[in-house]
Amino acid sequence: MKLKSIEKKIDNNRVRIIGTIEVETLCKEIEIYFEYPKRFADCLSEDADAFVPALLLPAMEMGESLEIEPPISEKLFRNTRKIQDIFCQWHPENFKQILVFARNVVKRKLPNRSHVGAFFSLGVDSFYTFHKHIHPNNPLLPKISHLIHMKGIEFPLSYYKDDREQEVNQRIEEVARATNIDVVFGETNIRSHFPLKWGLYYHGAALASVALSLSGGFNSVLLPSTDSYKKIFHWGSSPLIDHLWSTENTELVHDGSEVERAEKTAKFLTQNALAMKYLRVCLKNYGGAGNCGKCTKCVRTMLPLEISGKLSMFQTFPNSLPKNWDKILEIKDEHDLAHAEAILDLAREAGAETQIVKTLSRKIETAKCAIFLQEQTFGQLIGSMTSVMLVQPIQRQGDWLQEKLKVNRFKAKAGRLQRRIELMFNGEEELNYPPSSDRVT
Ligand SMILES: [Zn+2]
Repeated sequence: MKLKSIEKKIDNNRVRIIGTIEVETLCKEIEIYFEYPKRFADCLSEDADAFVPALLLPAMEMGESLEIEPPISEKLFRNTRKIQDIFCQWHPENFKQILVFARNVVKRKLPNRSHVGAFFSLGVDSFYTFHKHIHPNNPLLPKISHLIHMKGIEFPLSYYKDDREQEVNQRIEEVARATNIDVVFGETNIRSHFPLKWGLYYHGAALASVALSLSGGFNSVLLPSTDSYKKIFHWGSSPLIDHLWSTENTELVHDGSEVERAEKTAKFLTQNALAMKYLRVCLKNYGGAGNCGKCTKCVRTMLPLEISGKLSMFQTFPNSLPKNWDKILEIKDEHDLAHAEAILDLAREAGAETQIVKTLSRKIETAKCAIFLQEQTFGQLIGSMTSVMLVQPIQRQGDWLQEKLKVNRFKAKAGRLQRRIELMFNGEEELNYPPSSDRVT
């Protein structure tokens, strides 16, 4: 794979940087772009940095070396090795170590980079990061100057067919206006070329690409965390990886892992009037605003709100949980399990309605068994069943036998002692004691 060139184009009110890439496996050239309103033209960098996260994982998946012609940050270039190490350890079946060649490695600081950006989608994680950084109790944290929202990140561009993102953009603008923050609305086709699993592999790298495309003006960019430090999953955006995409110009910060998502929802978003008005988590809306209130992601968010007694204050959700919420809530892998357990902890801590605690506990126990069975190979499963059905009963019999033998050994010793005493009292000498036939083995 070869990043051949980068071009900056300004048309009417938009500015775009386009990378041209030769992909051997696909036998063709492709173009990846990042586009923004023209007023951000000075923020756009024509270095290779923005395209490196976008290309490294696809190249590793295809097993192609990565050749980079335009200048690349020395810091980022060095870290491509460590990023590869992590992904290869996490997913050895999908990624291979590859060679990264760079024609021009540079270590330079661009002037005038004063902006602090935060990715913002109106979701739980991004609202938490937003709330934390604008809250007056946190004067030491950098103040966010720009929210960043990209069309083509949440879903591939082909999903946006009816301008449904307009309402989302409007709401983001209202949040920004209310807090005197600017917004960068951009667009990218980064999801249009490589069908990598989004959550598991690619979304952290894609966000890093967007952040680095703005490195001419942004000193740092916050990537709202998905998980907490309690359990670090092998996930595309992670506290182990995100900062490794940083350059000398733009620091990437994985933000918010100090709190579980259920806690973010129940303890922090319930203090934020804008979150109460605009919180948006539903993926059934495919990039649109609002929430259906009936899907697993909606229920997972509504539960902590219900536990905190604040659900009815959140305008984008129904006032109560659906009656069959326990059937809707999916716990299909370790990731879902961690989220469900965090909700249960929260419910217990808050002394929430016993029914929620009971139902959730039962659901979690059932899910744990199902996940255990899912993770077993057929051989391991047969092994486990054999163990339960055959080996363990035999072991139990063995333990019983051993106990029995111990008793018998004790009885035999006692018997021999008794016999010896009898012989002594009778004045008879025992010549061969103990007789071999008496030995208990
Ligand atoms: Zn929903």
